[in-house]
Amino acid sequence: MSDPGDRAVAPLHRRSSGTGAVTVRVPAKVNLHLGVGDVRKDGFHELVTVYHAVSLYDEVIVEPADELSVTVAGEGIGDVPTDATNLAARAVRALAAMVDRDPDVAITVRKGIPVAGGMAGGSADAAAALIAADVLWGSQLDRITLEGVAAGLGSDVAFLLHGGSALGTGRGEAISPVLSQGDYHWVLAFGDVGMSTPEVYAELDRIRETEHMTPIGPPDGVLAALRAGDAVALGAALANDLQPAALRMRPALRRVLDAGKELGAVGGVVSGSGPTIALLARSSNEAVRIASALPGLGVCRTVRRAHGPVLGARVVPADSTTA
Ligand code: C5P
Repeated sequence: MSDPGDRAVAPLHRRSSGTGAVTVRVPAKVNLHLGVGDVRKDGFHELVTVYHAVSLYDEVIVEPADELSVTVAGEGIGDVPTDATNLAARAVRALAAMVDRDPDVAITVRKGIPVAGGMAGGSADAAAALIAADVLWGSQLDRITLEGVAAGLGSDVAFLLHGGSALGTGRGEAISPVLSQGDYHWVLAFGDVGMSTPEVYAELDRIRETEHMTPIGPPDGVLAALRAGDAVALGAALANDLQPAALRMRPALRRVLDAGKELGAVGGVVSGSGPTIALLARSSNEAVRIASALPGLGVCRTVRRAHGPVLGARVVPADSTTA
């Protein structure tokens, strides 16, 4: 089933309105494969990951103002900072420094991506703010420069400029495209309370110290399934090294994974550092069936359907915004 919103997406760098406000829509991500290696000297873990952008979106509006401000709307926003630490504000400041101007804009974030859900909502807002400020200021930075700024903001930000399905290496910020065909249908089960990404990485380090857990291998199974457009093979290949850590911290998540399997999902995995569980369905109809049955089992609060891969952060034309 196609997302009607997808049709409204303009090419990157199209001005969204004549009023001086630029709206950018940005998707969430799941990691189809998340291989976590050793801790590096900078404190980040070496990653080999396959990112996949799914049709769950935040909208970020950037407009001229007397000073930099952030307003956030949507569910669970109590945990989103609106001060200088907000990642979208940091993105605007980084871009302003690069193009040598004041970061005097009002940023409005409309959350559709769960906060602290393992779906890169904060990074998504940073990617969207970068594009929006670049368009608003007419700086027209090339993609490589924008990706460089993105990489300095967080491990997932560069991918969310890109979208689709892509290989991430380094600490996740080095992105290369992968061959992929087909549309994949996901059922996303959100947790009641978010999880802290640094705490989940720290828990993995503790598990590895005591249990000598070895990192999973290369993402070959996921890459082969994407090349073939084979949802069943992709479901079997889904893998996340952070999953044992997330499950140890939140044992109830196991019940969601088990329920997904019982309902006929072809695969299920903790999304990033959790607590969102991403269940892969065989087809769009199957996703509808699983998403309808899951809430009745009482294993999770909110269930949403999404499809992927979708485009990364893109300007929304003024005539299709709801503002
Ligand atoms: O880069 P990002 O801000 O998303 O990272 C959040 C936290 O997750 C980091 O501060 C770090 O604790 C952990 N992390 C990591 N290795 C990575 C990515 C994230 O240890 N490659």
